Amino acid sequence: MSYANQLYQQMILDHNKKPRNFRPMENATHVCPGRNPLCGDDITVYARVENDGIEDVSFQGKGCSICMSSASMMTEFVKGKTTRQAQDSFAEFHRMILGELDPNTMPNTLGKLKVFEGVKEYPARTKCASLPWHTLNGALSRTQEVSTE
Ligand code: ZN
Repeated sequence: MSYANQLYQQMILDHNKKPRNFRPMENATHVCPGRNPLCGDDITVYARVENDGIEDVSFQGKGCSICMSSASMMTEFVKGKTTRQAQDSFAEFHRMILGELDPNTMPNTLGKLKVFEGVKEYPARTKCASLPWHTLNGALSRTQEVSTE
C-alpha cells in the first residue's frame, strides 16, 4: 500500500472512531438533513453563520466510515472560514474525488482533506465522501433536504 493510501486509511479510521463536532447545535442558523440512499448514510449538518463567517459547524447521524470521517474532517476544515471559502473548497474536493483535480500538482486549498484523494479509486464511495459537503451546501443555501439521488 502506498504512503498516501496508508495515511488515508489512518485518518478515516481515526475520524470514524472519534468524530469531531459530532453533536446537535441549539443555536444553529442553518440546518439541513442529507441522505445517500445508495449506502444508507443519513446525517444532519448544523451551522452557525454570522456576517458570512462560519462560526460553528457540527453534525449528527449515522453513516459508513467514509461518510462519518468526511463529515468530521469537513467540520474541522470549514470552521472559521467564510461561506464562500467553504463552497470553493467543496468544488475542489468534489473534483479531487472524481479524479479531475490532482491535489499534489494543481493549486488548491484542500490541506488535510487531500487524504480523501484515495476515494477516486472507489467510484461507488464518492457520494459517501461528498454527502457531508452537499449537506453543508444545502444548509447554507437553505435547502430543505439533500439526497444524492
Ligand atoms: Zn457511505
